[in-house]
Amino acid sequence: MEIKEYVIKRKEGMIQEISTLDRPPVLSIISVGHNPASESYMKGKCKDSADVGITAIRTGLDESATEEELLDVIRKQNADDSIDGIIVQLPVPAGIRESSIIETICKEKDVDGFRKDSPFVSCTPKGIVDYLEREGFNFSGKNAVVMGRSNIVGRPMAKLLLDRSCNVTVIHSKTCEEDKKLFLANADLIVVAIGKEAILNSSYKLKETAWIVDVGINRGEDGKLHGDVEPNLPVAKQTPVPGGVGLLTRLALIENVLEASKNK
Ligand code: NAP
Repeated sequence: MEIKEYVIKRKEGMIQEISTLDRPPVLSIISVGHNPASESYMKGKCKDSADVGITAIRTGLDESATEEELLDVIRKQNADDSIDGIIVQLPVPAGIRESSIIETICKEKDVDGFRKDSPFVSCTPKGIVDYLEREGFNFSGKNAVVMGRSNIVGRPMAKLLLDRSCNVTVIHSKTCEEDKKLFLANADLIVVAIGKEAILNSSYKLKETAWIVDVGINRGEDGKLHGDVEPNLPVAKQTPVPGGVGLLTRLALIENVLEASKNK
């Protein structure tokens, strides 16, 4: 199923479920300063919430806000029973530590899944695995290669795949080209999360049966969005950019908010 169609179907299920709840789930989106890219992501999150009946509330702090001021807002919202999930839109201005934000949002409301003890799975890996499951990817015993080892994508992705009994290899900037070629040639599933346009391309020999998930978002010289993977590689399945993993990440966030409201 195309990702767009899959997301529409999942949202229909959520609308039904939310209509049976005592009150709509509430997502708080906090931002600091003004960043055009962040503004567009936040609009997307508000739209997704509205689509399924989640109430999104926004708190915008001035660019000059201090870390303590931001943490105060988070603490107040932690204590507010009418709020189910809290996210702080990243990046935040220099001087505010992301680690302090992650530690301060209480785990029950950490719908981004950034805390080590969060009950929620980080949105991008969750969205990807749910979609692959729905598409019938048979994880057990398969060779999975995760390109990138960031805390929000690569590492949690590798863990979810290992939990599903894949043989997982993680590639990063210190992996030599020769090894990269070897791992990729044997891969049944490749998840690419590096942030470099077409870093996975037709110069690599891949299995015709391989599935590729392209997480990358890169603004090309043409002004358009491009993934980390060259389009139309000769494999069994390849997710597009745009219209691919970004939609799955957005879906996973609102699913985590619904779960948070049900956990209460
Ligand atoms: P990140 O924190 O910058 O991590 C990039 C990773 O790529 C690092 O682990 C780095 O290795 C590795 N790397 C860099 N150059 C490499 C190379 N030549 N070969 C192999 N590995 C290399 O990035 P991120 O936050 O995970 O995001 C990655 C991409 O996904 C970005 O384009 C981002 O915009 C996009 N993204 C998309 C979504 C979505 O919903 N679609 C969500 C999140 C992120 P080292 O650890 O050794 O430095």
